[in-house]
Amino acid sequence: MTLDALLAEATASLVAAGSPSARLDAEVLLCHVLGVERTWLYTWGDRDADGEATGRFRALLARRMAGEPVAYLTGEREFWGLTLATDPSTLIPRPDTETLVEAALALATTSGGRLLDLGTGSGAIALAFASERPGWRVLGLDIRPEAVSLARQNAARHALANAVFDESDWFAALAGQGEDARFDLVVSNPPYIAADDPHLAEGDVRFEPRSALVAGGEGLADLRHLVAAAREHLLPGGWLLLEHGFRQAEAVREALVEAGYAEVASRRDLAGHERISLGRHPA
Ligand code: GLN
Repeated sequence: MTLDALLAEATASLVAAGSPSARLDAEVLLCHVLGVERTWLYTWGDRDADGEATGRFRALLARRMAGEPVAYLTGEREFWGLTLATDPSTLIPRPDTETLVEAALALATTSGGRLLDLGTGSGAIALAFASERPGWRVLGLDIRPEAVSLARQNAARHALANAVFDESDWFAALAGQGEDARFDLVVSNPPYIAADDPHLAEGDVRFEPRSALVAGGEGLADLRHLVAAAREHLLPGGWLLLEHGFRQAEAVREALVEAGYAEVASRRDLAGHERISLGRHPA
């Protein structure tokens, strides 16, 4: 069987299994098994597939048909042009979150500074920022040791020595460090989905860690905690930037205003939803 025929067969199976991105999934999985780029597949699709690779591909295909995210099957995902290792201990980096990186970069106008990323997961936000601001020091914290080791692995992969990662329950590891625990920018993509949201029963999120997705108080509990706690960890004039659900912008702006932040605003993601809210520590 040729690679093209194998791809056509796999695409049809994935369509039948309800994948919203059947052809792409099949191509990405086949490239992963063969160790090639998609352009190679377009050029050499008339070659015969060897038996061993076909077997491994079919095994991955069966898992994808059962709903497992492609990023967990291949163990990687692109974010901000960086190929990042992913595994089921952390959320899969999403394009929407690049809006948070853009907003942080727009505020990082000095040649040096310090950024803190809370609940860093695979390290996506911290590493994207670190890659664009080599003069800044970036600290990523996560409560899960598996996430910390994944983020460190990703930093090493891209030789981003200006980003370091540690275990911490939100700001806990910074307690007692006084002025050393203050940052120019504090960012986070915390859990913000309500436990009863039907979105949790669809697609890739079913396989992602609940602890990275679900928060109490209709999804607002962790966002509210971060708004309150970040005040102690911002330098005068520093900014807090939070990703949130597209219906949560007003509630997050209100929390920021109530907590005394200035210049409170929101930014839209690629789909046009208010996805990020930010506020400035009153100097
Ligand atoms: N935006 C993600 C989703 O809807 C959730 C990310 C998060 O909870 N931080 O799947």
